[in-house]
Amino acid sequence: MKETVRNLKKVYSISNEYRKYFILILITSIIQMIIGIILPLYTAKQIVLFSENIYEELFLTSIMVLGISLINDINYFIMGIVCRKFRMGTIKNLQMKLGEEILKIEEKEIQKNGMGTFIERITQDTEHMAEMFTHGTGYISKTLMNAGIFIAIFTINKYVFLFYFISAILLTSLYLLRTNKMGKLDFIYRNQREKVSSLVGELVRGEKDLKMLSAKNSFLNQLFFEIKEKIKKDYDKRMVDILYLMIVRILTELFVFGLVILLIFLIKTQTLSISLAVALFTYKTNIMTNFMDNISLLLDEIKTFNVSTNRVFGIIENKDFDKEQFGDRHLKQVTGNFEFKNVSFSYENYKVLNHMSFKINSGETVAFVGRSGSGKTTIFNLLGKLYEISEGQILIDGIDIHTLDEESIRGNITMISQNPYIFNMSIRDNFKLIKENIQDKEIIKALKLSCLYDFVKNLPCGLDTILGEGGTNLSGGQRQRLAIARALVQKTKIILFDEATSALDNETQRDIQTAIDNLKGKYTILIIAHRLSTIKNSDRILLVEKGKIVGIGTHQELLKTNLSYKKLYESEITNQ
Ligand code: ADP
Repeated sequence: MKETVRNLKKVYSISNEYRKYFILILITSIIQMIIGIILPLYTAKQIVLFSENIYEELFLTSIMVLGISLINDINYFIMGIVCRKFRMGTIKNLQMKLGEEILKIEEKEIQKNGMGTFIERITQDTEHMAEMFTHGTGYISKTLMNAGIFIAIFTINKYVFLFYFISAILLTSLYLLRTNKMGKLDFIYRNQREKVSSLVGELVRGEKDLKMLSAKNSFLNQLFFEIKEKIKKDYDKRMVDILYLMIVRILTELFVFGLVILLIFLIKTQTLSISLAVALFTYKTNIMTNFMDNISLLLDEIKTFNVSTNRVFGIIENKDFDKEQFGDRHLKQVTGNFEFKNVSFSYENYKVLNHMSFKINSGETVAFVGRSGSGKTTIFNLLGKLYEISEGQILIDGIDIHTLDEESIRGNITMISQNPYIFNMSIRDNFKLIKENIQDKEIIKALKLSCLYDFVKNLPCGLDTILGEGGTNLSGGQRQRLAIARALVQKTKIILFDEATSALDNETQRDIQTAIDNLKGKYTILIIAHRLSTIKNSDRILLVEKGKIVGIGTHQELLKTNLSYKKLYESEITNQ
């Protein structure tokens, strides 16, 4: 109960402009409650008047019943509307808030948990929560109506009331036990469902690689295993449900039998007339079936609401996942120089950077080279503050990035990964994501500088071409050039470029080279180079080995002074 009230308060706090509907839900519920109590009382009075042949009063009472029933219908109608409005508004607010909060979660948590976890919470859990305000309120009003019937029975005969009351308490306790047990099993089931969603997400995103790696079967085996586990958890849950329901049904039948015996006894001892006994007997469906059904459905709804609310607010209130932390210092425009000072970093327990130090000057074009796995991409990730360093300092314009706000870091750095994500919208809209009011002129200029304009110009729909999810309609080289164009529009001072490892054809390679050359001098450019031939013109080259910088200089200098670099270069030449 406490948990439900706490969770309702949380939902209320996020409902913002829809709060008025919440208040209206409360008001209509109270009206419903009052009607729920007085209507059965009048109905009971009708039965008594019938049995005592007092027709005039019966006529007036019937008019009252009709009037109250009509008010009840109108109230129910209004309640239905406000509940739905509140439901829709709450889902909207929750999903938007979750979207916002998910983007604040630390990268390591996203990697660890998989996207399915978050997709489930944003789509399924918010819907489950909101159902409390449609189905849930429906069950509450019906339960209240049935509670009113209790009072009516009380006014007719106290013994029958006592019998009904005891049977209702016993049946409700059983339902409570069931709900408690089901709540725990449901939590386990939903976590398993999240795992399946994560895998399905990977199946869709990685379908091409799965096909080409001939890994379809082994992936599907893994997926089937998780699906089987999910079904098992679902089965466990449903078994508990079936078992409890069977006990409830048997008990209900025994109670009905007991009720018949009690009524016969009361008629025999002339405590009750036959017509009242028949009327009281007809209440059995309301008390033992409808009342219990509604309570059980309501309890189920509350349980689902609580599980989902805890999962959703686990994200919003930073309980389940670590969120990114930023300082509050703001730098509008950085000059573009930065420094790694004795930086160490580990992914979980695996040390990747080991007391790394280097300095980059504004406007420089610097290339990082080194064997795969030496830590080059990690340098980029740390500079973008996607991960937290464990030791040392990263300084932008001499200021520790820990003290800077998000905008000062990410608003001044663009990262072009090997396979940049292009959104499934038109080329123009991909630019509008960065700059809402961008004009075509500016887009075209950026596309020209990134050597992509000739390609776009010849597309039948030009800038209106839809690029497919992840930019699937573009080649790897085109995606990178489009990302360069985005960087040009973003006008960040620092550009991090992770050269594609896959062999690009010479022309594409040349285009990318030209695109980067177009940026030289105006920006600080860092390139992770997988082919030394492409970065001979860099101002400086930093050689990375096992998480340390082991050589700094121009291509010629390093060839002369650094044996590791020389070996790397020679191995590349022999591999060509
Ligand atoms: P490079 O770019 O030089 O190839 P990276 O910086 O990508 O190297 O990776 C350095 C090391 O860190 C590698 O051994 C890699 O396996 C590991 N690594 C990279 N990303 C992660 C991650 N998200 N979680 C755990 N380990 C990682």
